[in-house]
Amino acid sequence: MGPGAPGVSGSGADLRQRLLRKYAEKGLLVMTVVDVNVDDVIVALFEVRLLLHLMRRSRTWRNTGKLLFVRRVNRMSMRVYGRPATSWLRYAKNLDNDWVNKSVALVKRFMARSSVVVIEDLDPQRLREKLRSKDPEKAYLFSTWPVAKILRRIRAVAERAGKLLVVPPNYTSSICIKCLTLMEHDEGKWSRLRCPKCGFREDRDHVAVWNLAKSALVVLGFHYLDTYLGRSIKAYKEAVDALTPALTRALSQGPEPGPGVSEEGGEASSPEPSLSSRPARGDLGEGANEPSSDDDLGSQRGPVQ
Ligand SMILES: [Zn+2]
Repeated sequence: MGPGAPGVSGSGADLRQRLLRKYAEKGLLVMTVVDVNVDDVIVALFEVRLLLHLMRRSRTWRNTGKLLFVRRVNRMSMRVYGRPATSWLRYAKNLDNDWVNKSVALVKRFMARSSVVVIEDLDPQRLREKLRSKDPEKAYLFSTWPVAKILRRIRAVAERAGKLLVVPPNYTSSICIKCLTLMEHDEGKWSRLRCPKCGFREDRDHVAVWNLAKSALVVLGFHYLDTYLGRSIKAYKEAVDALTPALTRALSQGPEPGPGVSEEGGEASSPEPSLSSRPARGDLGEGANEPSSDDDLGSQRGPVQ
């Protein structure tokens, strides 16, 4: 991954130029970052000033409880009547389509306030790998077509607006925000990560959006800037480059901490600052399913890197 990486879509080089010029002139770039998972979609708004700031974060949940119920009903129908429970399956499909629509609407709302929409470059094969690596049980239980549909529609919407920035999927979701070490699953949970080096613990999804934002800045060439932000993005890029083999191995690994994933990247000892004002946990509005205008997770300001 680098400035020459095929990260920008369509009128790509154009967009990159435009964004850099904007940042040079105004000292501000606003980015929408999207992380799509098997059971939720996280949309985050970042401001790039002298530092990178997470301003807002929101998510849409897939209705996994009802989908599991439909699954059980259908199994029973197959067993008892020898045929699928068609109307229940249609109901499940509608639930998933609702989730698709809500997710796209949420991205549109954030996009209106930003110059660029950042999303991972996931083809079907990579998408399956990503979903399995994050939560194999859910990836097994739930169909992936809605996830693929969300990705497709978000890309189309952002492309039309001339704001699509695709970043390479380097499995960056598990690099420590503080010290750039590869994180491990915390206490056997898929949704929590813990840094073996600095002890930093965080929600997997929070780490993911930060790393997506940094990947976007690498694609835009910010690591060439001789500023504090530029240097921290450079350190991030070097850590990702060094970690890529270990990250690939980590994909096949479960929540049990195992060998081979606590290697440190070349820049792991770089003088990254402590995150002084991390937003408190629990502000991710669990269960907030409606992407209506005010269920956002409040403003989270924390000048970090
Ligand atoms: Zn760390």
